[in-house]
Amino acid sequence: MQKSDVIIIGAGPGGIFAAYELLKINKDISITVFEAGHSLDKRKCPIDGDKIKSCIHCQSCSIMSGFGGAGAFSDGKYNITNDFGGTLYEYIGKKEAIDLMKYVDEINMSHGGEGTKLYSTAGTDIKKVCLQNKLKLLDASVRHLGTDINYVVLKNIYNELKDKVDFHFDEAALTIESRGEGFVINTKNDSYTCDKCIVSVGRVGSKWMERVCKELDIPTKSNRVDIGVRVELPAVIFSHLTDELYESKIVYRTHQFEDNVRTFCMNPHGIVVTENTNGILTVNGHSYESADKQTDNTNFALLVAKHFSEPFKDSNGYGESIARLSNMLGGGVIVQRFGDLVRGRRSNEKRIAEGMVTPTLSATPGDLSLVLPKRILDGIIEMIYALDKIAPGTANDDTLLYGVEVKFYNMEVELNNNLESRYKGLYIIGDGSGVTHSLSHASASGVYVARDILGERDGDGILTECLR
Ligand SMILES: Cc1cc2nc3c(=O)[nH]c(=O)nc-3n(C[C@H](O)[C@H](O)[C@H](O)COP(=O)(O)OP(=O)(O)OC[C@H]3O[C@@H](n4cnc5c(N)ncnc54)[C@H](O)[C@@H]3O)c2cc1C
Repeated sequence: MQKSDVIIIGAGPGGIFAAYELLKINKDISITVFEAGHSLDKRKCPIDGDKIKSCIHCQSCSIMSGFGGAGAFSDGKYNITNDFGGTLYEYIGKKEAIDLMKYVDEINMSHGGEGTKLYSTAGTDIKKVCLQNKLKLLDASVRHLGTDINYVVLKNIYNELKDKVDFHFDEAALTIESRGEGFVINTKNDSYTCDKCIVSVGRVGSKWMERVCKELDIPTKSNRVDIGVRVELPAVIFSHLTDELYESKIVYRTHQFEDNVRTFCMNPHGIVVTENTNGILTVNGHSYESADKQTDNTNFALLVAKHFSEPFKDSNGYGESIARLSNMLGGGVIVQRFGDLVRGRRSNEKRIAEGMVTPTLSATPGDLSLVLPKRILDGIIEMIYALDKIAPGTANDDTLLYGVEVKFYNMEVELNNNLESRYKGLYIIGDGSGVTHSLSHASASGVYVARDILGERDGDGILTECLR
């Protein structure tokens, strides 16, 4: 059996930053990385909008899997905040979480991200305007790399790592066995041993992670899913917000049910895309940094969080069923004009073509009220009217709503404050652990465990001088 000091499963931001930091601290450490998807240069989604218009369910989805993980073709928005994007701070403390996110930002800047803009909510007047309209703007700094620069950063980091790390692409880890002081990782090709194992399999690895936890008897819990739509409108309607903040995370408490609806993943001049999670098609969005790839539209999600209590445990199953319903009715993602939704009628090709917003995703015109539960839909409609007060035009008839957008939360794995499972040396990080759900938190969790493995943190969780 081949032996490494550390095996990393999954080469998304969590896995990449773990490998980066391990090598930075100790250049002699041996690291093997298993990645179910392709290497960065081979990642390509076949949808070209011409010959292939919708998802053909590739064995490995290039949007979600491969070097760079789900982040590779993302908008590259690194939010430096504890207010959203995960609960890493609950494990490691607020200050260390922010310090690590800033450190990740420095690494991105030194690998091709320099020159990109860091936006901040500090001192903005928009906060007051939001509050005057029953909306709350959450605090954050956001580095917007953009899909194109994000790719350059990943390529540069890969080039730095490739001769020092044993990368196995298109080779998924099948099982993990605990053997004495270490672990055995089995893939379709072989078995490999290691002293420490870092599991960073993201959202796409959620089912596999669930199975591994069952096999190793690691406790988990799952009780949350976010469901909603992606809104697309002329960029100019939101430009006063996006020019200053780029991404604004705004929360609205509904009058009718007192549910929280929030904006999520705002993409100025961006495009709406399809996302394939375990064969279910949902919607997402991103935007490019370079002007020639930008569109006239801005898109963002409006999501309602559903928390379930006993005896129901399968929150992701609930979200999947709703997404399946939209897939069943629309063959994939459904698009509807806001005006049609409030009038209770299905959108059709003609009305969408005549509208003032040109869709950036080819989706099936339909009726979202046949898909989304009433309570969620009512909350979304209420929030659109609330946003219309701070960004007039949001509630225009031609505003497009794509559905459904679902944020599946991985079940939360029981971990100690080192992000270590009940097996000493088995770390579970990033979105796959349920602790994070963003680029910056996932990356920070990778740096954190690398330092823990190499004893670079003192008892108070403060980084000590790197002496190696
Ligand atoms: C279209 C899109 C846009 C997004 N935009 C943003 C954004 O702008 N800002 C933001 O903060 N977040 C964004 N996100 C979310 C962000 O990408 C994730 O939060 C982040 O990538 C999580 O990192 P991770 O390392 O935990 O997991 P992932 O990035 O999901 O990586 C996990 C990797 O593990 C691999 N894997 C899974 N199972 C196995 C296995 N058994 N063996 C080997 N490998 C395995 C997968 O193939 C994958 O490559 C976006 C996501 C999508 C899909």
